[in-house]
Amino acid sequence: MEKKYNPYNDMLEVLDEAAGLLGYKEEEYIALKHCERELKVSIPVKMDDGSVQVFDGYRVQHSSSRGPCKGGIRYHEEVDIDETKALSAWMSLKCAVVNVPYGGAKGAVKVDPSKLSKGELERLTRRYTAMILPLIGPEKDIPAPDMNTNAEVMGWIMDTYSMFKGYAVPGVVTGKPIEIGGSLGRGAATGRGVMLIAKYLMNSLNRKPEETTVAIQGLGNVGASAALQIHEEGFKVIAVSDISGGVICEDGLNIPEIVGFIANKKRLLKDYKNDKVRFVTNEDVLLADVDLLVPAAMQNQINEEIATKLKAKYIVEGANGPTTADADKILNKRGIIVVPDILANTGGVVVSYFEWVQNIQHLSWDENEVNETLAKIMHKAYEEVYALSQEKHVSMRLAANMVALKRLVTAKKIRGIFP
Ligand code: GLU
Repeated sequence: MEKKYNPYNDMLEVLDEAAGLLGYKEEEYIALKHCERELKVSIPVKMDDGSVQVFDGYRVQHSSSRGPCKGGIRYHEEVDIDETKALSAWMSLKCAVVNVPYGGAKGAVKVDPSKLSKGELERLTRRYTAMILPLIGPEKDIPAPDMNTNAEVMGWIMDTYSMFKGYAVPGVVTGKPIEIGGSLGRGAATGRGVMLIAKYLMNSLNRKPEETTVAIQGLGNVGASAALQIHEEGFKVIAVSDISGGVICEDGLNIPEIVGFIANKKRLLKDYKNDKVRFVTNEDVLLADVDLLVPAAMQNQINEEIATKLKAKYIVEGANGPTTADADKILNKRGIIVVPDILANTGGVVVSYFEWVQNIQHLSWDENEVNETLAKIMHKAYEEVYALSQEKHVSMRLAANMVALKRLVTAKKIRGIFP
């Protein structure tokens, strides 16, 4: 029987490997193999036609050793508890890699939001917020956008929480609209981080962006802004895809035109019209003959088959968990350099951290300050992970996990085990 893909097991596998290389005994990091809290909620929503539908939702807190738990909320019809747990643990690892003072959490609602009206989506969000309310708060656990959630949804979460408190609490959630305490630069931050990491990697390899061809899978918040910024940086983006398929043009795609065309998910790539592009499948984009591949869609996209066949020399992971553990072994064997998600896609959570800092200090930073501080933090983390991978002759994924695990274990040791 085929092994069922479980991203939490993949996370544990890498964690064990990193712990082994760090010389940790299991008792030193065993707590990190378990999530601290898992809340499952059933969310009743009054639909527009008067009927009631009940949706499953989760909020999982993996670790609070290094600070308040932090992580997004995703709406997707295929989420389950294992995916939410893995995403939550990856948040602890991400925050530790870039050394921002947070633990990790994640929330999810099992729903296809494209099938809901705006009113239904708002009622679902507010009821879900009310049901996870005992867990969240600016000092406890701070949600943010993730797949299929956005600034508007964060605004509803902020309002719902604030109504229960009786006063405005902007710091309960990040990725909010600017007008109610959101940060400049947050919308494009994950894509910006992906672009920065691609740039740092090319620099380490003595490669020029202009001589580097790129394929990007996914044109959601992360993929679209990564595509735009990677293109602006001078890379030659020749292949992109969304859920409807992909387009390839060896001479380089007109990325601003494509992103403009599908903006806000109102249109799909399959309806894009340009005589110079070839319409291909999503898989063709993953397998495109490029130097750099940026998976920026969902987890479990680069499986063993794709890993065996793909032609890219470098991968910068924009999505969370796009490569399975078994596929990762194949990529390593093939000498393909992978900058892992827990480093490459941290731009979002780093600017979330800036947003929260601005909220609790009642300050607002200008966009330059946000972008410059982001680049400083990401560059430091990249250098640390790259140097460790060179020193220990391990993949960057393993090196990033080692950096993160060390910070998490150190924090746990200093704090001790209660009681
Ligand atoms: N959902 C994003 C992530 O997976 C952002 C999390 C945050 O800003 O808290 O990194």
